[in-house]
Amino acid sequence: MRHWRWVAFGVAVGALVVVERLRPLRSLKDPAPTRVGRNLTLGLLAAATTAASEVPLVAPVQRLAARRQLGLLRLLRLPRALRVILGFLLLDYTLYIWHWLNHRAPALWRFHAVHHIDLDLDSSTGIRFHFGELALAAGFRAAQVLLLGVDAGTLRVWQQCLLIVTPRMHGIHHSTRVEETNTNFSSLLSWWDRLHRSLRLDVPQPTITIGVAGFLDPADVTLERSLTFPFSIRAMAARPRKHFTKVARDFRLPQR
Ligand SMILES: [Zn+2]
Repeated sequence: MRHWRWVAFGVAVGALVVVERLRPLRSLKDPAPTRVGRNLTLGLLAAATTAASEVPLVAPVQRLAARRQLGLLRLLRLPRALRVILGFLLLDYTLYIWHWLNHRAPALWRFHAVHHIDLDLDSSTGIRFHFGELALAAGFRAAQVLLLGVDAGTLRVWQQCLLIVTPRMHGIHHSTRVEETNTNFSSLLSWWDRLHRSLRLDVPQPTITIGVAGFLDPADVTLERSLTFPFSIRAMAARPRKHFTKVARDFRLPQR
């Protein structure tokens, strides 16, 4: 991404944070400006990790897959337009599965929980990711490119469209109640949640407490604690275990 795009992205996030402060969907638990600064710091570390891992890893894998004609979409030999559309949809669907795995697998949850323990949900939460999660995601992105056989243009367009789920839908995903956290895994198209019956829209926003149960004190989510969280014993206590059997059972294509 060129420099001006990063600037435009930063300005857009800043403007959204201001609008969200003026018209919040829920009452704020941690209104201090330090929270946004903390999320920004975590976001910068995450962006640096992506630059250091995804760019050197994904681009060579992309070139290798193109040179050797690897990946599902290249094997199917479809018309270009259809290949682009299908590639876009498959990237989005496999990201749904990756997000579901981040909640399901204890080792992945340790890192993903850092995104969830934010005490409020706004645009700054959208960049609040532990750098470890982004490093793991780089490996996943390389696997997506290799196995799906998507071209660089399709990947770029899809990445630029990401994170446009509605704030209400994502608010339910960030609830402290496990039966709400383990829903709404989609990052762009909500079809995948509908397909796997993990979509929930019936929760009134004022009733939602944002965060992870047991970690609702501002002292639990300081910058230092957020950075060390994945490597601490308390990370496992944050795991939304309950209701997972149900979600796991539902993780299948609907019966006809
Ligand atoms: Zn999540």
